[in-house]
Amino acid sequence: MKLGFLNDQSSLETRSTLDLVSAKKLISKGIDVFVEKSFSKELFSDDDFVQIGVTIKERYDILKSSDFIVQLSPLNEDEIKVMKKGAIFYGFLNPFFNRPLLTTFSKFGIKAISMEMIPRTTIAQKMDILSSQANLAGYVAVMVAAERIKKVLPMMITPAGTISPCRVFVIGVGVAGLQAIATAKRLGARVEAFDTRPVVEEQVKSLGAKFIKVDLGATGETQDGYAKELSAEKLKKQKEVMAKQCQLCDIVITTAQVFGRRAPRIVTKDMVLNMSRGSVIVDLAVDSGGNVEGAELGKEILINGVNVIGLANFPGHVAVHASQVLSANIFNFIDEFWDSENKIFQFDMSNEILSSSVITNDGEIVNKMFLE
Ligand code: NAD
Repeated sequence: MKLGFLNDQSSLETRSTLDLVSAKKLISKGIDVFVEKSFSKELFSDDDFVQIGVTIKERYDILKSSDFIVQLSPLNEDEIKVMKKGAIFYGFLNPFFNRPLLTTFSKFGIKAISMEMIPRTTIAQKMDILSSQANLAGYVAVMVAAERIKKVLPMMITPAGTISPCRVFVIGVGVAGLQAIATAKRLGARVEAFDTRPVVEEQVKSLGAKFIKVDLGATGETQDGYAKELSAEKLKKQKEVMAKQCQLCDIVITTAQVFGRRAPRIVTKDMVLNMSRGSVIVDLAVDSGGNVEGAELGKEILINGVNVIGLANFPGHVAVHASQVLSANIFNFIDEFWDSENKIFQFDMSNEILSSSVITNDGEIVNKMFLE
């Protein structure tokens, strides 16, 4: 099998989908590994890859010759149409918001697999890029906030008096939120958190933080553990409690997402205006629509003295570790379906991981969840 790794075309992408450890493991399986020229300038040189047996190629050579292509962001039509018919593309396809892309993949007979649709099951955990990256994003959010806030996070008892701990409020306690809570606690902050899924309360408490309760009635979750979208009435109720809580806090970190939909708008401009000057808000959901009114992707905006941070690619700020786990996730995915006898990727659509994540196959859009 010829396996090609392409350079992400976004200037914001600092991560590498292949590191040297995973490259060696792939090669040892008998896979021909190609990376695009200047693949990972910041982390590894082309020479580093060549020395372990990777072949460096031009972008279009990889597109034309590979059986399996990896890139985080999707390809464009000019790139898709030169791929081999029946080849596999593995990337973040953003399928619910990118129908034309799916049509293009199916038109040219490409098997497109969506990284974000890998199921959240125990067996697929080692391939789960959403989790490995969200975990680091939660850490980065706290580190950025701690650096920007003009306060110390822990309580300090000094001869000149006691400094109270920073109050951190985390909205949305999935993978990123849990890591944000744990990181803020380690730095000594007083941490409170809220999520619409009631099961989260125990997890918040186990990290030593306080769960803020909002009486929303049944909110439910999908079989993959994702939150369901709140009704307008429930969201209004949530916002009332969030408004009071934000006012009391120095740092607010929002991570709330609803799978396949725009992120819920939870923190309004009025809530921002009611926070103390010098406070910091980090919106981790900014690239899927944003939880905070006024947050902008890739920007830090001062609103009435409150710093609203909407950095792009949070895990990319710790690119070395983000690339390490990302590469391992991708290796584990290929390895799971590797047929070592025939040296092929077994495209077994009866397997739950593939039936959940394959979006196009044999010239059609086939994903059940997407079609439904
Ligand atoms: P996510 O990124 O989709 O959302 C982040 C959090 O936002 C979620 O906890 C969600 O409940 C919350 N949220 C949604 N709307 C909200 C609102 N209005 N206000 C406050 N919070 C809101 O979530 P994720 O981190 O991808 O995790 C999703 C689920 O998958 C979780 O149940 C997690 O435990 C589970 N998971 C399971 C595995 C596994 O078993 N292999 C791995 C990773 C995650």
